[in-house]
Amino acid sequence: MTDWIKRDEAAIWHPFTPLRGMESPLMIEKAEGVNLYTEEGEKIIDAISSWWVNIHGHSHPYLAEAIASQAAQLEHVIFAGFTHEPAIRLAERLLEILPENQSKIFYSDNGSTAVEVAMKMAFQFFHNQGIEKRKIIAIDGAYHGDTFGAMSVGERGPFTSPFDPFLFEVDFVDFPNGENDEEVWNHFQQIIATNDVAAFIYEPLAQGASGMRVYDKDLLDRMISLAQTNDVICIADEVMTGFGRTGELFAADSLKTNPDIMCLSKGLTGGALAMGITTCSQRIQDAYRSSDLMKTFFHGHSFTANPITCAVANASLDLLLDEKCTENRTRINRRHTAFSQKIAQHALVRNTRILGTIIAFELNTDRDTSYFNEARHHLYPYFIDKGILIRPLGNVIYLIPPYIISDEDLDFIYQTIFNFLEEYPMLIENNEL
Ligand code: PMP
Repeated sequence: MTDWIKRDEAAIWHPFTPLRGMESPLMIEKAEGVNLYTEEGEKIIDAISSWWVNIHGHSHPYLAEAIASQAAQLEHVIFAGFTHEPAIRLAERLLEILPENQSKIFYSDNGSTAVEVAMKMAFQFFHNQGIEKRKIIAIDGAYHGDTFGAMSVGERGPFTSPFDPFLFEVDFVDFPNGENDEEVWNHFQQIIATNDVAAFIYEPLAQGASGMRVYDKDLLDRMISLAQTNDVICIADEVMTGFGRTGELFAADSLKTNPDIMCLSKGLTGGALAMGITTCSQRIQDAYRSSDLMKTFFHGHSFTANPITCAVANASLDLLLDEKCTENRTRINRRHTAFSQKIAQHALVRNTRILGTIIAFELNTDRDTSYFNEARHHLYPYFIDKGILIRPLGNVIYLIPPYIISDEDLDFIYQTIFNFLEEYPMLIENNEL
């Protein structure tokens, strides 16, 4: 163990990582394009865009330049009572490309805060009008972040159990898996009919953390439509799906309905710096436009709209809106499709799904492959050993690569997965997994 790792273990508490019994973290010295380089100079392809954020790859010179030049001019300023060009430009440009009903940009720090802001905005929307509504609808399996509000509207399970007594009540509908869609629809209608629903929050088209589970967009459109007809605020959590991940710029672009509120983060800055954004329609902001001070949205963070972060988000948008980026996303989708055809008949593969630049499938095995199972912890090092970073979710293996990934790197990853599937029975027999 190198000195750095010892120092890390003495001083640092890593996310989603037990304090005992885990492999030591890998020391990364630099990153470029899709590659991470360890202290020893080993190359690891980042096939999950480092928790789905690095859409243009790592250490992109154009993003680095945007950060450096903004840092030299205006690195930070309080955002209450002050403003600056990078924030204004970013807000205007986002409103240009977001669904046409979105009309205001609220800055925060990450995906979870974008969700907190969204829910507070929705609750206070009713409060400001003297309307009492308490219910929120969410979908089973949802993940919206790790702060208390975001946890409340997410799947209750081992991750949340220490906090369950402190989470607010939410009406969950089952995840629409294609077989139960009519039941989900009926249940949704029943909850809406109580007339006590303030908001419906959802990950549009696909749930990320529950295993890249894709669901029917027509059903989602029906749900949003019904909710909006009944004065229920629809909150689209596009933290994972935004900025081209599902092919279109936003998942909302694949739907007929527009959300009332949207949550953005991850790809927003090309993964270079942390930022969250909550956007809303004119109707939402109108409930706050008042001379009554008590109708103000009293929410803000020290680093709201940090100029360096806004500048890199603007630079990331330049790259995202370049034709080359669209072509890359189409190319990745095409190659994922070809690979899925190759593995579709494999005995160890089930439920392959592709959405834009995402491919996921389930390992068809009797072994317990839940998040906490040993197998998962062995799959990860198996691929790291081959120079590929993936983080299976339970028995779900998925890729969510930077858009700049080359065909060669994709082929190498596909081939490694294919080899893994071929070797799997032997690995199990030899107790190597
Ligand atoms: N919403 C969704 C859909 C997410 O996937 C995530 C993170 N994976 C979050 C919210 C929370 O974002 P953050 O980790 O930046 O707080």
